[in-house]
Amino acid sequence: MVQLRTFMGIPRERIPWAPTVNVERCSGCGACLDECPNGVYALDEQEGVARVVAPDRCVVLCDKCAPACPGDAISFPDKDATKRLLRELASHALASD
Ligand code: SF4
Ligand code: SF4
Repeated sequence: MVQLRTFMGIPRERIPWAPTVNVERCSGCGACLDECPNGVYALDEQEGVARVVAPDRCVVLCDKCAPACPGDAISFPDKDATKRLLRELASHALASD
């Protein structure tokens, strides 16, 4: 399992990129767990839904699990807004080096 601690010199925990599961649409099928190699999701067996248990393990700007969800239950932040934020955070990270 790859765990990125920084991205473009930015501490990973400062980057708000991770999936959100709409539990109203989630059937608990587990396809997202199969799709993600990084252990971002776990199945909540009691509720029968997927939970995001390790958001910082999500690869920044990856969204490949979303189309794998048959219920269209997975969403991500806006990519362009995230890219703008990354440029901003990266310039601050460089300036503080
Ligand atoms: S976007 Fe990629 S890294 Fe993030 S949870 Fe989905 S498959 Fe895993
Ligand atoms: S793939 Fe979608 S429906 Fe299946 S467990 Fe994950 S979020 Fe729920």
